[in-house]
Amino acid sequence: MHENLIPVRQAVIARNPGESEFHQAVDEVFESLGPVVARHPELLESAILERICEPERQIIFRVPWTDDNGRVHINRGFRVEFNSALGPYKGGLRFHPSVYLGIVKFLGFEQIFKNSLTGMPIGGGKGGSDFDPSGRSDAEIMRFCQSFMTELYRHIGEYTDVPAGDIGVGGREIGYLFGQYKRITNRYESGVLTGKGLAWGGSLVRTEATGYGTVMFAEEMLKTRGQDMDGREMLVSGSGNVAIYAIERAQSLGAKVLTASDSSGYVVDPDGIDLDLLKQVKEVERARISQYAERKGGRARFISDGSVWDVPGSVALPCATQNELNGRQAKKLLANGVEVVAEGANMPTTAEAVRIFRDADVLFAPGKAANAGGVATSALEMQQNASRDSWTFDYTQQRLQEIMRGIHHRCAETADEYGMPGNYVAGANIAGFIKVARAMSAQGL
Ligand code: GLU
Repeated sequence: MHENLIPVRQAVIARNPGESEFHQAVDEVFESLGPVVARHPELLESAILERICEPERQIIFRVPWTDDNGRVHINRGFRVEFNSALGPYKGGLRFHPSVYLGIVKFLGFEQIFKNSLTGMPIGGGKGGSDFDPSGRSDAEIMRFCQSFMTELYRHIGEYTDVPAGDIGVGGREIGYLFGQYKRITNRYESGVLTGKGLAWGGSLVRTEATGYGTVMFAEEMLKTRGQDMDGREMLVSGSGNVAIYAIERAQSLGAKVLTASDSSGYVVDPDGIDLDLLKQVKEVERARISQYAERKGGRARFISDGSVWDVPGSVALPCATQNELNGRQAKKLLANGVEVVAEGANMPTTAEAVRIFRDADVLFAPGKAANAGGVATSALEMQQNASRDSWTFDYTQQRLQEIMRGIHHRCAETADEYGMPGNYVAGANIAGFIKVARAMSAQGL
């Protein structure tokens, strides 16, 4: 890390004790900013880095709700409004028992640079709760969402802060959240949330966008080496929205996806993942992934220990959660011939694993570039809402494709400009940072 950045980094760590994921996300960006410090000292005037690491506003609130037996539960809700230099705060809500302020801040911090890279007018934010939706009935989910929004509504708005989904928050939850916002405010403010249903202000392609975009980014990287996806054996982790649509797009390009996973283990299907079956098990039945193997009757294996990174393949897409791919697993992937890694999840690869991939010249795409298609399509949803319009699937997909090409171009060009060709981590961090820093300094303290 550049010596001028070390004291800033240390002050950030000291000010945010115990938030290891946030520290990791800050380090990851700071590691890339040395050349910016050297070339653009003016960008670091007025304590820009200290300011960028301190959220503009952090909201923590109580979420009381009753389960189906009438028992009262208390969860904690969060919204971190990190940076509004480029537009209203924008970023998802995560409902997962692991959620605490450090996770929300890491995600919000990443979101600033990701959103900047998309080229769309959106700032960075993130929120969520330590609520565990697994095993909860539909009525319980609804009551939780209503209670969550009963506090959140006063902090958000189409010109202020626009939440969407993340882990544990999909179309169903956005529906209940939107309904409660509308009920409390008496406003049909479509642009206050994204990821809405298609009949009530949602955008076509939003559901598919993160997964499709991740594969589009991988395709762009492969193109720089004159290669493509056709015929490749591919590893995907996760089985949520990002994984499912990454698999769909990869298969449409002729790749064979061998794996999918959830928190209970993973499946290997030598025939290539049967997407209809995976959707049935994970989206319709909300069941464990072992059900997939059971229904395939011996053609697919369920494995409860180890990870999808034990399986050979030339493309790896971590689409589950943070720090799911460590140094040891990176070495295993390399030994098995991996050539491309693109992060569909946020920060799924540890710093050590990223270093291993970079040193081996693997095409590595950080999440803030590769998975930005989701939030970019959220911005397209906001555009449609603002103009009271709705676009066709083909048109929206074409916009997404242009945006992903644009992000790839911005990352590659910036990496070249700073003498690190092919380093998408540096390219994404530097390009994302410079735009935000310029806007912040133009807008004054
Ligand atoms: N949660 C997604 C992300 O990590 C999407 C956020 C959004 O659409 O606002 O980027």
